[in-house]
Amino acid sequence: MKVYKFGGASVRSAAGVRNLAHILSLSEGQMFVVISAMGKTTNALEEVLEHYMQSEQTQAFEKLKTIKTFHLEIIEHLFTDVQTGKDAIEPIFTELQAILSAPIDAEYDKAYDRIVSCGELISTRIISAYLNECGIPNKWLDMRHILQTDSNFREANIYMEESAERLKQAIDQQPATIYIGQGFIGGNTQGHPTTLGREGSDYTAAVVANLLNAESVTIWKDVPGILNADPRIFPDTIHIPELTYYDAVELAYSGAQVIHPKTIKPLENKHIPLFVKPFENPEASGSVIKASTKHPIDVPVLILRKNQILITVRPRDFSFVLEDGLSTMFNILHKHRLKISLIQSSAVTISVCVDNTRYVEGALSELHNKFRVTYNDQLELLTIRGVTPEIIARTTGNKEILLMQKTRRTARFLMKSQPQII
Ligand code: ASP
Ligand code: MG
Repeated sequence: MKVYKFGGASVRSAAGVRNLAHILSLSEGQMFVVISAMGKTTNALEEVLEHYMQSEQTQAFEKLKTIKTFHLEIIEHLFTDVQTGKDAIEPIFTELQAILSAPIDAEYDKAYDRIVSCGELISTRIISAYLNECGIPNKWLDMRHILQTDSNFREANIYMEESAERLKQAIDQQPATIYIGQGFIGGNTQGHPTTLGREGSDYTAAVVANLLNAESVTIWKDVPGILNADPRIFPDTIHIPELTYYDAVELAYSGAQVIHPKTIKPLENKHIPLFVKPFENPEASGSVIKASTKHPIDVPVLILRKNQILITVRPRDFSFVLEDGLSTMFNILHKHRLKISLIQSSAVTISVCVDNTRYVEGALSELHNKFRVTYNDQLELLTIRGVTPEIIARTTGNKEILLMQKTRRTARFLMKSQPQII
């Protein structure tokens, strides 16, 4: 079995879905295909949820209508028998309408998972029906019933053993060459839908591969493979053909958006290679991530993590922060789901840099109860691996640097504004 993953950008149009079918038609053997929501559907469903939770029913329905129109347009351009495509998604929209018509009966995160998980249900229904129409038979699987998770809504943790059994059962009961499953979603033990964290479809693909002992995973993307920098931010990027799990997890953690950081562990644990290939050019070699490589990365790698906030705490009684304050602080950050991207300490202060998400406010107010707290927002964290003085000069220039950490190979700069190569 091979696992393929197609992201929202790849399936944002009828042409994209046709290309997906083309890629599948080139592939041999059994395939498990993991697909994200089409285009920006997840963001749009988040807006629907926002209106619903504010009891703005009219706006919620309007937004939902835009989402439906977007998918119907794709269906109209895709199917010979348009009605088949419409029938494939109608029940999901009927259910969404029922949810939005009813009073709010769940807390935010739980309601989020119920509504936002529909994006992947819609995309996979359309694509499965379309593949059938083009003579590529496949079985649609409902990952809400396969990936069993805890009830940590919006960032659910997968129960691997239970999920392995369910996946095996689903496959044994429905023999097929191609299986289609949703990325990003699962279900808790009570049968309520859960989601695995934004951009979590890569992680789904890795988990499925782990559970099936797959031969490989291929993530199809709108880039030629893994590059040494994000081409939208830095010019003159260089393609990296091979890298190790270790390099990949470090890059993903620093904010390289090419793969989700959680993707690597399930693959490393079973030594399953991960290919990153260009969706527009399936014959190209792309990049491969695996246990070891004979060609270590020999170019500097630049990763910019945007929208950061630096939070500094200091115990009120001048006690040593690393002795007395550390566990309290980390417990608070963990509870509020903040992901730490950098840590720095002195005798009586500790500073952490985190993604500035909607969870920050809650964490700050809880930290205030225990510490003196200050913070700086609107920051960007630049990580340079394989650093040289010349690269530092070119990327940080005259930017205002709030914090810098440097080892022999890696330098990290927390800066006020976006760096540009000059
Ligand atoms: N559709 C989800 C998101 O946009 C999951 C994914 O794309 O990986 O976050
Ligand atoms: Mg997406």
